[in-house]
Amino acid sequence: MTEFVKPAYLFFVLIFVVPGVVGGVLAANRARNFMVWSILCAVFPVFLLVIYFHKPLREVEGKFWKCRSCGEFLKWREDVCKYCGEPRKG
Ligand SMILES: [Zn+2]
Repeated sequence: MTEFVKPAYLFFVLIFVVPGVVGGVLAANRARNFMVWSILCAVFPVFLLVIYFHKPLREVEGKFWKCRSCGEFLKWREDVCKYCGEPRKG
């Protein structure tokens, strides 16, 4: 009996753990609460989209920087603000 239960249990864990961890990491990259967002994303995977498009609370080293000219957040690999053209260091 248990050999039939175990794969189903693993599948059940995966469909909750994977979105949970991904959502938690996305939240942490945005200076937001890892636990809150991982639980939200595990229960309601639609929150993955919500947190993905969420703006960071503050600059996160290596993840997001804030434009000093217009205040928008940009991905760390982008060197120039796509909203106003302000360079990151300048
Ligand atoms: Zn800007």
